[in-house]
Amino acid sequence: MSIEVIRTPAKLRERAFSLRGTGSRIALVPTMGALHEGHLSLLRKARPLCDTLIMSIFVNPTQFAAGEDLDRYPRDESTDLALATECGVDIAFCPTPRDMYPEGYQTRITLPKLAAPMCGAKRPGHFDGVATVVSKLFNAALPHLAVFGEKDFQQLAILRQLNADLDFGIEILGGAIVREADGLALSSRNVYLSAEERKQAPRLQQGLQAAAQRFAEGVTDASVLLSAARAIVGSAPLAQIEYLELRSAKTLEDVREVTEPSLIAVAARFGNTRLIDNLVLVP
Ligand code: AMP
Repeated sequence: MSIEVIRTPAKLRERAFSLRGTGSRIALVPTMGALHEGHLSLLRKARPLCDTLIMSIFVNPTQFAAGEDLDRYPRDESTDLALATECGVDIAFCPTPRDMYPEGYQTRITLPKLAAPMCGAKRPGHFDGVATVVSKLFNAALPHLAVFGEKDFQQLAILRQLNADLDFGIEILGGAIVREADGLALSSRNVYLSAEERKQAPRLQQGLQAAAQRFAEGVTDASVLLSAARAIVGSAPLAQIEYLELRSAKTLEDVREVTEPSLIAVAARFGNTRLIDNLVLVP
């Protein structure tokens, strides 16, 4: 069966409403397209858990700040639809910005605590844009479950909180980070990297692994663990570290000692390309 493409929130909601009426269990996997194995792993995770698999492709302008890569973000709908079809997606939701934000649109959703640190501090307004668009996607697709990648760990934490706070009642699942053979986390932005930047980019993951290694040896002091990671990431001459932090995996508050599951997360720029990675240390 070929994939069904829907382009407006109203049409998707009508379709989802009637699917729900027939008892169909709906899963949603939101994406910005330029699909890679990371996205496909989320589709494969969702597929056996639902009757109707909906994937959205929408490069959401409201989560990009001025001067970010909205205009050059990679877009290739026909390839994405072919990949989605292979992964058993039933419905692709591909709206335009105008479909999502018609004239007069004004609502924004803010999570002041979870969105404050890390990527939220470096990309003001980013998570407002994410929380708002995902709320709109939830209201249009009416999913029973939704899957998001752990690569965007802060985003996942925010969306879990949003789901609880606004009573969406959706089962939210995380998908493990998918990586290249050399450890670099897959990202639609990896295509921007020059050959030399690409060569150095795996240092992010190697830095996190160095901290994990120290932790496995019994080190729980955050500053020691972070120094171990910083030594490796900082040895990539083209990496400009934006942040490298250790935080509670639950609240994203700073931790000094790893006594609970803790997120070690890094963001770095290679030229104009911003990459993120993380791992969770579990005592
Ligand atoms: P994006 O298209 O970048 O907005 O990502 C769509 C979804 O795919 C988000 O839930 C991401 O966290 C997830 N994702 C992106 N890259 C990866 C990856 N390397 N491994 C697992 N999930 C990912």
